[in-house]
Amino acid sequence: MDIAVGQDVSRNSIDPDFLGDDSRRTFLQAAGLLVAGMILPQAHAFENQSTRVASDHKVILVVIGGVRRAETFSPEGQENIPHLVNDLLPQALFYPHARNDGVTAHFNAISSILTGNWQRVDDWGKLAPTTPTLFEQFRKQTKTDRSDTWVVASNKALTSLIGASSASDYGPPYGANVVFPKQLMITAVVDALRRGRAANMADRSKVEAELESAIAGSNYEGLGWNVFDAAERLDPRAQSTIESAIAGFVRSGGPTSGDELTFFMTREIMHKFAPRLILVALSDVEAAHFGSYSMHVAGIRTADRLAWQLWREIESNPDYKGKTTMILLPEFGRDPDGSSTNGFFNHRANDESTRDTWMMALGPAIGKPRIIERPVRHVDVCPTLAGLLDLPAVASQGMRLDEFRV
Ligand SMILES: [Zn+2]
Repeated sequence: MDIAVGQDVSRNSIDPDFLGDDSRRTFLQAAGLLVAGMILPQAHAFENQSTRVASDHKVILVVIGGVRRAETFSPEGQENIPHLVNDLLPQALFYPHARNDGVTAHFNAISSILTGNWQRVDDWGKLAPTTPTLFEQFRKQTKTDRSDTWVVASNKALTSLIGASSASDYGPPYGANVVFPKQLMITAVVDALRRGRAANMADRSKVEAELESAIAGSNYEGLGWNVFDAAERLDPRAQSTIESAIAGFVRSGGPTSGDELTFFMTREIMHKFAPRLILVALSDVEAAHFGSYSMHVAGIRTADRLAWQLWREIESNPDYKGKTTMILLPEFGRDPDGSSTNGFFNHRANDESTRDTWMMALGPAIGKPRIIERPVRHVDVCPTLAGLLDLPAVASQGMRLDEFRV
């Protein structure tokens, strides 16, 4: 079902039992509790005892939806990515040509990156990838806990099935925690409001207005989410992490796009669990589907800034500093201007504008900063990262990239 946040917030009242009192703080704590109950069923934080591996190299993989070269690493696009160009590129291993030769839809694109094989499963995440994800390869080999592998995403085309494949001998027992912070927040708040009765709260309308602006940073964000009916209790530590992150995020009163919340949650998870392997899927750029070029470009600027902030977080967090590889790449480009698929709106054309994009890597595993003109492919990412994590090779259509020091 779709959620139209603004309408629901203004039409419904807030349940006074749920709120307890009229303080915003209490409301947000309660919202956090609701949210925590809606973590996806695959999210079990502590099911096994951790077994430490000798190497503690960490990997943070950031995908940013569909962006064209024209709006990013082109002479005219560089103004949209000042942090990538000025702050990160000088210390990066940069591949100007990283190709998506598979399906240019979100679930398949991210699945291909995560598995090292071009995946052709359902575009909307109704089927898991068919070959093992990096998470499964890592957890099976190292016997680590699920809390060592996370997906934090604001992309509506993903589902919890992104965290593990349907491959025999692998699958959900070795999968990642999968969290969609923006969805959890919207679902929790809308659900709370829907269940509301006539409230006698003095400043109800004020709280409603605050929540509305907090959860509906822009109209498109409230549209298109599926509501999960599964509500499984989490380990208390994971639960409190999610809860405090969302409450803290709302309380901070800053910009509230899905990507901002995803970044905020990622940082919280890094602090609490220090996972070895995180996929962060940013998708503010996908406002393009709604036809707004300015919102699309704003999404690019947000991703640029958050990538920089994430790298700075890595560099200042003792659990990550000096031993983390961060890889940043778009899932694909977007369609060329003048195409029959509406140009930047979509990413369906079998065209260089849609397939030919770029990839940036940072951290000690890259050797010295440089630009490698040779085209690489998205299916090369998984075997390369598997090498960095000391995992044995798994059948892949991709190849380990020689530029990384294993
Ligand atoms: Zn899209």
